This record gives sequence, structure tokens and C-alpha cells, in this order.
Amino acid sequence: MSEGGLFLTAVEMDVLMSEDGVREWARDQLDDLGLSEWTFDIVPAEKFPSMSEWAVDGSIGMCIPEEHTIVLAREFVTENGADEWGSFTTANTVLHECAHALTLNTDGGGHGEAWEAKFREIGGDPDEDV
Ligand SMILES: [Zn+2]
Repeated sequence: MSEGGLFLTAVEMDVLMSEDGVREWARDQLDDLGLSEWTFDIVPAEKFPSMSEWAVDGSIGMCIPEEHTIVLAREFVTENGADEWGSFTTANTVLHECAHALTLNTDGGGHGEAWEAKFREIGGDPDEDV
């Protein structure tokens, strides 16, 4: 876990250890960031073709602009999310995808400067590889 970057309270860490908690936490973040029109979901990785590569490249979240949806892979949330490390990575991934949603017009869904600046601005930690 890195210094600076994402800060989670002990209560948030706890909340993020269950799927319902992750849904609740993510919903709050989206609403706070002006993404109330966006949907957050936790789905089996197999639901989307590109998610089948998740196990290989380590990605656990996805921003789907055309559906105004941010998703996390259930496999990650349930298998790896149930500890402190998992809570941090889950939260950071939610913010990572929110930063994409907020910079679609400038970075087009990529990891450019606008995306990284936004990610830091909303409390994410770009050094954590998600
Ligand atoms: Zn990304």
C-alpha cells in the first residue's frame, strides 16, 4: 500500500469487504462525482468478452461509456476483496473507472494526462496498478 494517494477509513475498509458494501460505497462515489446517471454493477467476468483476459492482465474493472456503466469482476470482489488489500484495490479500481467516465471527452477512455490528473484529483492512487 502506498503513502499518500487513496485514503480509506477503517469503516470504509470494512464496508468494502462485502459485495453489498462495495455496491453501496461505489454508488456513493458516483453520486458524489456527478455520475448519478451512471450505473455501477458487479458481474461475472465472463459477461464481457474482454473480461476473459482479466485474469491474465490483472484488470478487475471496466468503464463502458456507451452504457454509462462501471463494472467490477465479481471473481475479484468475492475472492480477493475480503481483506484490507482487497478493500484498497477495489476502491482504487472504482475510482480508476470513475476517472475514465469523467475524462471521456478529453482522454477518450485512455490513460492519458487528463485521466491521471482526474484520478489523483478524486483520491485515486495511480501507482497502484489496476
Ligand atoms: Zn483504465
